[in-house]
Amino acid sequence: MGSKWDLIVIGAGASGLACAIAAAACGERVLLLEAQEQMGKKILASGNGRCNILNSGEPRYYGNPDFAKAVLDRMGLVRISAFLHRYGLFLSEENQRLYPCTFQSKTVMMMFRKALEIEGVTVHCSESVLSVRKRQEGFEIRTTKTAYQAERAVLAAGGMAGAALGGTFDGYRLARELGFQVTPIKPALSPLLTDSRSVSGLSGIRARCRVTLFHENRKLHEEEGEVLFSENGVSGICAMQMARFLEGPDDRLDIHFLHRFFSTMNEAETEMAERKWFFASQPPEYLLAGLVNSKIAYAICKQAGLAMKGEPIQALTGEQIRKVFYTAMHYQVHIRGTRGFENAQVTAGGVEPDAFSPDNLESLRIRGFHMTGELLDVDGDCGGFNLMFALATGLLAGLNGRSSHWG
Ligand SMILES: Cc1cc2nc3c(=O)[nH]c(=O)nc-3n(C[C@H](O)[C@H](O)[C@H](O)COP(=O)(O)OP(=O)(O)OC[C@H]3O[C@@H](n4cnc5c(N)ncnc54)[C@H](O)[C@@H]3O)c2cc1C
Repeated sequence: MGSKWDLIVIGAGASGLACAIAAAACGERVLLLEAQEQMGKKILASGNGRCNILNSGEPRYYGNPDFAKAVLDRMGLVRISAFLHRYGLFLSEENQRLYPCTFQSKTVMMMFRKALEIEGVTVHCSESVLSVRKRQEGFEIRTTKTAYQAERAVLAAGGMAGAALGGTFDGYRLARELGFQVTPIKPALSPLLTDSRSVSGLSGIRARCRVTLFHENRKLHEEEGEVLFSENGVSGICAMQMARFLEGPDDRLDIHFLHRFFSTMNEAETEMAERKWFFASQPPEYLLAGLVNSKIAYAICKQAGLAMKGEPIQALTGEQIRKVFYTAMHYQVHIRGTRGFENAQVTAGGVEPDAFSPDNLESLRIRGFHMTGELLDVDGDCGGFNLMFALATGLLAGLNGRSSHWG
């Protein structure tokens, strides 16, 4: 039987690391258990190796956004930055996104490792937690190696996203065994799979556009930004942010490629007339020359039923020209799903947060038991929101109502 601890933290991701350090700095004897052979794999992979760790803008959360706001009201940008700074991590801001000033995620892990050492946290990697049981006094935590006793337990086991980086169902299973409600989970911030016809010939092309997601004729979500086309799908921030809103077959994207120039067909009338005259002897895709990538222009004409005919623009009717512009504003892409949890950055759905206090993430039902990070039903947009929520919840659970040692 393993020894008795003040606190056992399950999972050494962003929230577990922050929690363990904050608690140990308050004087608790802390054991941090990590199933993988290495801590913080998602931190290392985040932001394409740059680690977009925080965001200074308005919170952009889904699932239970009110809970996210309540957490960030208690542990916001200033306090989290001060914690990181306390252990030597300086940040740099670009368009409200904060990164380590080295723009290297390994700097963040260097800082976490140093902080664990300074505060005296005991870390066991390659040790997976199998069960958590409430005992008369505290908790019994069984692992693949032994069993431990702890006064407090924090479940920071993360979500399903990024399986190769530690994404697992374990956290949801452990939560359910303790009687917590888990709302259905699905991949969020994931590339989308599409019909191959609508993206044919576009692989590798990036476009700035406004994208609206529909289920049949019901609008589900709208985003502006960059879309990256692949052979059978779309990615890029704008497309990936659609993933959490998908409802199933008959989901489709309606892409407005001209939103920066014209909102409506009426606004484009003069341009259409001028282009008809200007590019009279050219093929139909010249109607969009200079407005969109030439391959996208060709795909639009094809969807409008014109590209294959080889007729010059002067042979087109006004109706056909209008159809090209209309299609450029409403290009249809049918969605077949996401690229799954393996390729998702975050999990939508999870453990119902209202079962916990936003003050310290303690269960309202089981005293001394806390839950943090992505495991909770809170997911954020791209831009540092997910790591920010993980860090905020971890720090609050670690402090457990005590004042912070970093000011
Ligand atoms: C490729 C990628 C890029 C990303 N980029 C960004 C970004 O730039 N900005 C941003 O804000 N967010 C980003 N995210 C999302 C962000 O990384 C996560 O939301 C955040 O790390 C979640 O932190 P967490 O501590 O809740 O969970 P995790 O980081 O998933 O940590 C949970 C840990 O618990 C361990 N664990 C699980 N089960 C057990 C068990 N039974 N016993 C012991 N240990 C267990 C896991 O191995 C894991 O190490 C990215 C995610 C991915 C996958």
